[in-house]
Order: sequence, then C-alpha cells, then structure tokens
Amino acid sequence: MGISFDLGGKTAIVTGANTGLGQAIAVALAGAGADIALVGRSSMAETEAAIAAAGKGRSHTIKADLSTIEPVKDVIDQTVTWSGRADILVNNAGIIKRADAVDFTEADWDAVMDVNLKTVFFLSQAFARHLIAEDKPGKIINIASLLSFQGGIRIPSYTASKSGLAGLTRLLACEWAGKGINVNAIAPGYFETNNTEALRNDADRNATILGRIPAGHWGKPDELGGAAVFLASQASDYVHGIVLPVDGGWLAR
Ligand code: NAD
Repeated sequence: MGISFDLGGKTAIVTGANTGLGQAIAVALAGAGADIALVGRSSMAETEAAIAAAGKGRSHTIKADLSTIEPVKDVIDQTVTWSGRADILVNNAGIIKRADAVDFTEADWDAVMDVNLKTVFFLSQAFARHLIAEDKPGKIINIASLLSFQGGIRIPSYTASKSGLAGLTRLLACEWAGKGINVNAIAPGYFETNNTEALRNDADRNATILGRIPAGHWGKPDELGGAAVFLASQASDYVHGIVLPVDGGWLAR
C-alpha cells in the first residue's frame, strides 16, 4: 500500500471552524477531499464559502455551544445523519483568559477548562463510542499549544488546559490505538488569529515573540493545514499520542 494523504470519502468534524486555525484546518481537510461538519456557536458562512470555492469536499454547519458537554452526542449524531459517517474529529475550539495569577478568578478558570479540556474529552468519548459501535477506524486531532510544553505568563487556566490536553492525548492514544483510532495533537506556535490579537497589539510583547521565532514571522493559519491533513490521513496510521509542534522553530530555540 502506498502513502496517501487523500481524504476523499471521509467526513471530518471541525469545532470552532468559523475563523482562525479551525477555519484553515477545515479548508485544508476539504482540499484533501473530506466532507466537513463545521461545529460552533457562530456563523460558518465564511468557511462554507471558502470550502465551496475550493470545489472539493462539501460542508455542513452544526450549531453547538461547547462551553458545556450537553451537545456532544448530538454533534456526532447530526454529522452521521448528514453524511452517513464520521471519520475525523478535530478538537479546535478553545478560549484564553489573561490576568496575573494572583488576580485570576474562578470564573475564568472554569470557562477555559470547560471549553479547552472537559468538552474535548467528552466529545472525543462520544466520537470514539460511535466508531467502536460501528467497528470503524478514526482520527482525533487535538489542537494543543506551546503552553502544552511551556509555562507562559498571565494565562494560568489556558496553560493548565493545554498541558492537560497533551496528557489526555497520550492517554486516549494508549486506550484507543488498539481499536484503530489515532489520537494526536498539533501544537501551533504563534499564529495570527483573534486568540493572539492582544499580544500582537502590544509592541513590546510582539517584538519579543517575533525575535524568538527562527522562521521570523507569525504563523499564517494556512501554514497549519499540512500537519492536519497528515494526522487525518492514512499517512499517519502508525502515529499515536504525539504532540506535533508547528511553530516556526520556537521550541527548537
Ligand atoms: P480564535 O479565537 O480565532 O478561534 C477560537 C474558535 O473557538 C472560534 O471558532 C470560536 O468560535 C470557538 N469557540 C470558542 N468557544 C466556543 C464555544 N463555547 N462553543 C463553540 N465554539 C467555541 O482562535 P484560534 O487561534 O483560531 O484558536 C483555535 C485553537 O488554536 C484554540 O484551541 C487555541 O487555543 C489554539 N491555539 C492558537 C494559537 C494561536 O497562535 N493563534 C496557538 C496555539 C494554540
């Protein structure tokens, strides 16, 4: 069997696909041939238009607020009702709250942990239950962070959630690899999205960050697409439990 990055005939679920990295991942997977269920609480019109313009996979929007686990089973059911299958889950939706650790509130702790970690676990569980019931293989791709490896400052719940997500990726890989489900993560470096707008607007932080990136520029969202296609495709069938940095060399520094 040769190596294939083709996702034709597959269906991917991408959370938080209306903007930023989720949008770029959805467009990249569709470009490789997959049909995409776009999951989130905001309008997916821009992403739907980009996928339609690429002329490959189809897309379908599923409204869901992932701040609780209430919608997780419905997300899988609606995907299967739409396309007849669900092969790939990209847990991309995430939030960040910034404050000094001494001032950080319980509300900001819980909000970030709920979206970035709790819902990711229970949506992955619902997806794996579906695959196991159907005796089918699948791929889960979690969107981690450099804060899965490093401490950072002023983002305690974000760092806890993304470090936890790296551990969860490894645990789920250990439990589900034998069932034909690959669980891996991508750790994006500093990308130009809403998530990093505050940093890019702070001249000092912007210069410090840029000065440490060997590639010399902030990541553009579509620079993440190749890693997502790799981890979603047959080419990565023997890859389990990794956290793949796509960071312009930041961690190598
Ligand atoms: P973004 O803020 O542009 O996108 C976040 C997405 O999550 C949006 O689509 C938003 O609607 C969705 N979302 C948030 N809360 C939700 C909820 N309750 N229900 C449904 N959807 C919800 O930021 P982004 O940079 O594109 O972030 C995407 C992922 O990448 C996040 O998990 C983030 O932590 C991670 N990440 C980003 C960077 C970066 O440099 N931008 C670096 C590392 C990791």
